Amino acid sequence: MNAPIQAASPHTMNTYARLPVAMVRGQGCRVWDANGNSYLDALAGIAVNTLGHAHPKLVPALQAQIATLIHCCNYYHVPDAETLAAKLAALAGMTNVFFCCTGLEANEAALKLARKYGHDKGIDKPQIVVYDNAFHGRSIATLSATGNAKVQKGFEPLLEGFIRVPLNDIDALRQATAGNPNVAAVFFETIQGEGGINPMRIEYLQQVRQLCDQNGWLMMIDEVQCGMGRTGKWFAHQWAGIVPDVMPLAKGLGSGVPIGAVVAGPKAAHIFQPGNHGTTFGGNPLAMRAGVETIRIMEEDGLLDNAARVGAHLMSALKQRLAGNPGVTEVRGQGLMIGIELAKPCGALTERALKAGLLISVTADNVVRLLPPLVLTQAEADQIVAILAPLIEAFLNE
Ligand SMILES: *Cc1c(COP(=O)(O)O)cnc(C)c1O
Repeated sequence: MNAPIQAASPHTMNTYARLPVAMVRGQGCRVWDANGNSYLDALAGIAVNTLGHAHPKLVPALQAQIATLIHCCNYYHVPDAETLAAKLAALAGMTNVFFCCTGLEANEAALKLARKYGHDKGIDKPQIVVYDNAFHGRSIATLSATGNAKVQKGFEPLLEGFIRVPLNDIDALRQATAGNPNVAAVFFETIQGEGGINPMRIEYLQQVRQLCDQNGWLMMIDEVQCGMGRTGKWFAHQWAGIVPDVMPLAKGLGSGVPIGAVVAGPKAAHIFQPGNHGTTFGGNPLAMRAGVETIRIMEEDGLLDNAARVGAHLMSALKQRLAGNPGVTEVRGQGLMIGIELAKPCGALTERALKAGLLISVTADNVVRLLPPLVLTQAEADQIVAILAPLIEAFLNE
């Protein structure tokens, strides 16, 4: 396979270290580059292409919507926004939704909700608990909430009002907030994505829920990456049987069409009033149709079950295949959100996998991350292992 090395992009800003191929077409869990080489997609555009590429039920629905109405702005009602909000609320056991276009925008809205929630309670300087290794986006507020110095460096001064704690340590959370009347919310990912596929433990989630209830804090769970069926439940925190007060969503919600949402329960549903928040593109008819159809097709095609079943198969196949290799620190995750932590930095594996016909990512320096479309078949899962395992083994032997 011979992908052309492209010259550095002369006009797009130099924000990404791009791999030397251009993707031009996709079908199911396959994509093709401009030279006709094909790749097995174990990344789904970073957990975005829920239904894979060019899904035969999604394409005609979006085509029809584009031919009807793409955008009209929020001066008017958008019927599909009401439909999608009701659906998300029902799936989450929550009540109201604000729509936007991206993950950081959903998180930005959540942070504003937390601050206003605090102010409404008479807290002048509300504080929000955030976590080590978290990733919440790259706006000034969300990069301040993010727990990664690389994301923050060069953009100081960071926003104030955050308290940072380690994952899965309820005593640390208690100590960091003890006697502090200014805490308004606790904000985290159920399974940290960019941070290296780090899950919050079920008991911890339940303990945090309890602490939030006891103290009147909002429990805000960033499900931008781990949500929308990826773990085998609609939202990853549902494995712990809890319900958050605020839940930002994005990535997989529109199966490729840009969309974000903040789902709120009763404690947070009526904080925003007209004039408090808004966004021009948010809730537009095209994105809303994409959300409605994505969920409808996921239900029709049983993709939650598929994610759980094929994900479990992929995880156990990887564990089996890599067992006993001292360079493999851990294989972890849930459903089709899997991290393979290696004992050394392994960024080089993304390009090697590409050359071998497989799309993956490496995050947190030493974690190979798999986020395939939820339509992945067991045979495709086996192909991922067949391509990836030898690459990892060879890399660790160098
Ligand atoms: C990707 C991601 C974001 C940011 O989403 P964008 O759409 O890139 O702004 C926020 N939180 C989590 C958990 C993410 O994975």
